[in-house]
Amino acid sequence: MRMLLPGHAASRGSALGRARIRLPHALDVVERRIGVGEVAGERERLRQAIAATREEMHRMRERLHGALAREVGEFLDLHALLLDDPELLKGLDELIHAGRYSADYALRLQRDRLAAVFEGMDDPYLKSRMDDLDHVIGRIHAHLHKRAIETQGVAGEILVGDNIAPSELAQLQADGVVAVVTAAGSPLSHSAILARSLHLPLVVGIAKAWQRINDGDVLIVDGGSGEVIVNPEAADLRRYRQRLKDAAREQRELGRLRSKPTRTRDGVDVALYANAESREDVARAHALGAAGLGLYRTEFLFLQHNALPSEDEQFQIYRDAVLGMSGRPVTIRTLDLGADKADRIGLSVRGEDNPALGLRGIRLSLARRDVFDTQLRAIARASAYGPIRILVPMVSAREEIVTVRRRLGTIVRQLRAQGHEVAETIALGAMIEVPAAALALAGFIGDVDFLSLGTNDLVQYLLAADRNNDALGDLYSPLHPGVLQLMRQVIALGERHGVPVAVCGEIAGDARMAPLLLALGLTEFSLHPATLLEVRKAIRDSDLSRLRERAKKLLQARDRAGIERWLKAASPVGAT
Ligand code: PEP
Ligand code: MG
Repeated sequence: MRMLLPGHAASRGSALGRARIRLPHALDVVERRIGVGEVAGERERLRQAIAATREEMHRMRERLHGALAREVGEFLDLHALLLDDPELLKGLDELIHAGRYSADYALRLQRDRLAAVFEGMDDPYLKSRMDDLDHVIGRIHAHLHKRAIETQGVAGEILVGDNIAPSELAQLQADGVVAVVTAAGSPLSHSAILARSLHLPLVVGIAKAWQRINDGDVLIVDGGSGEVIVNPEAADLRRYRQRLKDAAREQRELGRLRSKPTRTRDGVDVALYANAESREDVARAHALGAAGLGLYRTEFLFLQHNALPSEDEQFQIYRDAVLGMSGRPVTIRTLDLGADKADRIGLSVRGEDNPALGLRGIRLSLARRDVFDTQLRAIARASAYGPIRILVPMVSAREEIVTVRRRLGTIVRQLRAQGHEVAETIALGAMIEVPAAALALAGFIGDVDFLSLGTNDLVQYLLAADRNNDALGDLYSPLHPGVLQLMRQVIALGERHGVPVAVCGEIAGDARMAPLLLALGLTEFSLHPATLLEVRKAIRDSDLSRLRERAKKLLQARDRAGIERWLKAASPVGAT
């Protein structure tokens, strides 16, 4: 029977395929005790299964290249480390040896023991490690049975499960999975960001998805609306085919915009900068005609290593980004570690009660002056190769910007004295993502050269709504009158003081939001290259003077519904 399951859209694209159910923690193992004579055999079976898992991860790691090697590799490394975890291995051995349990049951018991420990923790980072552990244990279990790993032989299928680890996504796509549907997860999770990079449709938040969908059911997944249709009827299939045709046409049309200017219908140029985290992003940004890089997130450089990247390593990466953009400005954001971006080097503080309100971004940099100085030196040296701007994350007070500017001045002087070439000027900007910084901006706007609205965090801190908590549903949304009013306030102050204001949160990459951002007065966006052409199209379809006339109405909206009505009325015909 046809059934429509509404979830949350996490990665766009449509797919039609049969469901492949993956039960959560599929360790449905019955208790089995073994005799003394079986102990050695069971230990050996387990040893081989662990070795096979290690080998399999190694193979997966080798197959990755480009941006995936960096993003996914990080998770594979973490999983490989878990395989060597003495706590896990010792516990398993004891269960087989002293407890006389079969290898399978020992695995299940050890998993449950560790799950109980993890469940008692409040720290979301540590909690998320349980997902990693489950993933690793699931793989060992599959090898114990010499069973093909669940993700093989799934070409053309849609994976339906509890959750999905970022490290699995690339493999799933390589195996031919056409979409993923999960019960847990959030559109802002690392998995969702990666699925979008891979163009793999992903719908999250379908409660108990694996119970409501049967193995082999035919599904239509719409990663754009977040809907999943189980056992579609003729009309659904017709609509699906039409959607595919529309998407192909759109892609063709968008392709033509590569070399076109980002100019509104009434002739105003809008600067579309790119957000980048890797060499590949830089190359794409350049190819799509981005005005420059508006946000180069440097924390990924630190996340992928087990040791701090040296000044020279950093210098080369920043210099290559500058060279890669051939003269267009490159905005390097200083380290924004902490909160959900905990590292393995041990820079970010573990066990903070409220990591999102803790030692992250510039706070961490100022607490670790050695690390910060190294980064500033590397950026300043790269400025010899083209225009570089420095963007400071999580600014909450004037003092932070003043301290950074002073430090930068000292470092530039030292570098010159040491014979290094440094650009005459390096612009310094602040991310506006902490509400207090937005409210106190008049007091330090004279201390910055530019500003960038980080709406991902601004929304989270302004609405007291965790950006990673899917349970909050629509509560976490930029479509709140308080958010728009504060954004407008920042933009107006920038206009009065001649300080450029850009927006670099995910909202900038959502073409549907372009009329709203233009109405608020923004003409600089920084967004992931994947959506640059769509946003360019939305801007080219917009009439800026008409939108500005309507801005007052937008700011008078009293609730989300009012803002949505405004957006609907303001959207160019055909856009939704
Ligand atoms: C933001 O907060 O909007 C932002 C761009 O930074 P990040 O998503 O890296 O926290
Ligand atoms: Mg942020």
